[in-house]
Amino acid sequence: MRILVSACLLGLCCRDDGKSKANERVLRLSEKHELIPVCPEQLGGLPTPRPPAEIRDGHVVNRMGLDVTAQYEKGAAETLRLYDLLHCDCALLKARSPSCGPDAVYDGSFSGRLISGQGITAKALSQRNISVLSEENDWGSLLD
Ligand code: SF4
Repeated sequence: MRILVSACLLGLCCRDDGKSKANERVLRLSEKHELIPVCPEQLGGLPTPRPPAEIRDGHVVNRMGLDVTAQYEKGAAETLRLYDLLHCDCALLKARSPSCGPDAVYDGSFSGRLISGQGITAKALSQRNISVLSEENDWGSLLD
């Protein structure tokens, strides 16, 4: 399979704090699958490092109070473009990210509270009926 993967899970230092979140279980998938690294926030034109952001009332707002929804939406559109261009089969994205989180995100209060919901890119992929998993999901036999 060809899997679109959050670049930070593959060890690229693209997170808001300038670090990576390399995940051994995800990295091992490269033995059997083709992994396509992508960072929607960088693709949306945001710098690294950058202030953390959360989704509030449908908008993405960073810790400085700046609305960065447009950059997040651009990142989602560019990610979809890559997905199509490279004929990917599914996506494996970083849990809880305001871009990548497939099933839960922080609630916009910067207090660490999680709510069910999707990041902007995860939602755009899901709306196209693309299968979106996180590194924390039970992948079952899907990625065997
Ligand atoms: Fe990782 Fe996604 Fe955040 Fe980029 S936008 S750092 S790929 S979680």
